[in-house]
Amino acid sequence: MLTNIGKHNWQLENTYARLPAVFFSLQRPVPVAKPEIVCFNERLANDLGLGFLNHEKENSVGYFSGNKIPDGAEPLAQAYAGHQFGHFTMLGDGRAVLLGEQIAPTGKRFDVQLKGSGQTPYSRRGDGRATLYSMLREYLISESIHHLGIPTTRSLSVVSTGEQVFRGEMHKGAVLTRTADSHIRVGTFEYARNFGSTEDLQALTTYTIQRHYPEIIHTDNPALELLKAVMHKQIDLVVHWMRVGFIHGVMNTDNMSIGGETIDYGPCAFMNSYNPRTVFSSIDTRGRYAFGNQSYIAQWNLAVFAGALLPIISENQEKAVGLAQEVIAGFRDRFTEKWYAMMYGKLGILHPDDKDKDLVDGLLSLMETHRADYTQVFLALQQNKELDGSLFRLEEFRGWVEKWKNTHQKDEHKAASLALMHKLNPKVIPRNHWVEDVLEAAVEGNMTPFNQLLNTLSKPYDDHPDGLQFQRIPEGFDAGYQTFCGT
Ligand code: AMP
Ligand code: MG
Repeated sequence: MLTNIGKHNWQLENTYARLPAVFFSLQRPVPVAKPEIVCFNERLANDLGLGFLNHEKENSVGYFSGNKIPDGAEPLAQAYAGHQFGHFTMLGDGRAVLLGEQIAPTGKRFDVQLKGSGQTPYSRRGDGRATLYSMLREYLISESIHHLGIPTTRSLSVVSTGEQVFRGEMHKGAVLTRTADSHIRVGTFEYARNFGSTEDLQALTTYTIQRHYPEIIHTDNPALELLKAVMHKQIDLVVHWMRVGFIHGVMNTDNMSIGGETIDYGPCAFMNSYNPRTVFSSIDTRGRYAFGNQSYIAQWNLAVFAGALLPIISENQEKAVGLAQEVIAGFRDRFTEKWYAMMYGKLGILHPDDKDKDLVDGLLSLMETHRADYTQVFLALQQNKELDGSLFRLEEFRGWVEKWKNTHQKDEHKAASLALMHKLNPKVIPRNHWVEDVLEAAVEGNMTPFNQLLNTLSKPYDDHPDGLQFQRIPEGFDAGYQTFCGT
C-alpha cells in the first residue's frame, strides 16, 4: 500500500492573503536567539495532521519560534480596529503573524498563528514580544476552556526565545503558537468599515461567510444573516462562560471572534465565590467586563458589528438600521432563555416550568450573600454533600435544597437529572491560586506542576480526589488577585 505523503508535510494555505491588500501586511516573524520548546500539544498536533512533528524536535523548535517558515505559509499580520473599553482605535496584529491555514486530515481549516513573534507595522510602541509567563498562562487556560467543552482558540506550543522582555522589569520571552477557526474579529469589520471601501467590506463579508457560515451564502440578505449567526454563536459562548464561572476580562470588540471562539487570554480568570461583580483585570477599574456584565457587553459589541455591516445590509441606510436593530433587539430574550436553560441543566432540572426561574434566582442570591464557591455548590448538590461555610448551615438554604429535591430529584428521574448535572458542572477549573503556583514554577524551569495541572484540567468532569474538588480556596487570595493584558 502507498503511504500518504501528505501525512509528513504541512498542509498550509493562506486564503486570508487573497483578501484586498488593506486587510494585512506581509510580515515574517522576527527570528529569536535561542529557541527551546517549553510545551508542545501532541494531541492537537495529531488532530491537525501535524503529528509528524512530535518526532521532529529540531523542526518544531524552528517552526514554532518563527525561525523557520513551513512550506505553504505566507506569513502576515492582520489589520483590525476595535473598541477598547468603549473607545474606537486602530489596532492590528502588533505581535503576531498568521502563517496560514493548516488543513487537517478531516478537511477542516485551522489558522496557525505565532504570538510574540516580533514587531509588525501595527506594533505602535510595542516590542512585538510576549513573556513566557503570559504565553504559558494562555496555553493552560485555553486548553482548559477547550476541555470544558467551550469553543476556543487553542495552543499548540510555547517556545522560549532565550531573549529577555522588558515589562517594568526583565522577564523571559516566549512565542505561543495558537490555532483558531479564524482570527476574524468584530474589529476586522470595524476596520473595513472605517478604513476600507464598501468593496473591501463586501469582500471581507463574503470571505467570512464562506469560511464560517457557508449555509447562509445563498440567502436573500447574507450580511444580515451573518449578524444573526454571529449573535447566536456569541450568546452560546457567553452562556458557556457563565456556566463555568469564566471571566474573559477584556471583551473589547477586537477580542470578539466572528467564529464564536473564546479568544485573547490576557486578563481572564475564573470566579471562586459567586459574585456577578467579580473583576480581576487590573485595568478594568469600573468593572465593565465583570462576570455578570458579559452578556451586556456581548450585545454592545454585536451592535458595533451591526454598525459596521450597515452599508451591505441595505443601500438604504434607514432600512439597514431598522433591520439590524431588529436583530440586536432579539439578543436579550434569546440570551435569557439560553442562560436559564443552562442553569436548569446545572441543577438537573429536566422539565422546567416558569416557577423554576425563582429557584435559580433564589439560589444565586443566597450564594452571593454567603460568598459561596460557584463551582463547589453545584458539585455539592450533585453529590448530596454539605460544604463548610455559612451557606449550608442556613435555614433558608436548607429550605431551598428541600424544595429542589422534592421537585427535581424524585426517584423516577433522579438518574437522568444527575447525568445532566454531571455533564454541565465541572469538578475542577483552573483556580487562580493553582494557576499562579504552577506558572511561578514553570518560569523557573520546573514544568512538572504545570503539566500535572494541565493533565487534571484536561478531564474536568471526571472524579478527582475530594481534596482537589472541595479544597479550601485560600482565604483572601481573590481580594488581592490581579490579572494583566498584553504582557
Ligand atoms: P490585547 O490586549 O492582547 O488584545 O492587545 C491589544 C493590541 O495591542 C493588539 O493590537 C496587540 O497586537 C497589541 N499589542 C499587545 N502587546 C503588544 C506588544 N508587546 N507589542 C506590540 N503590540 C502589542
Ligand atoms: Mg487582543
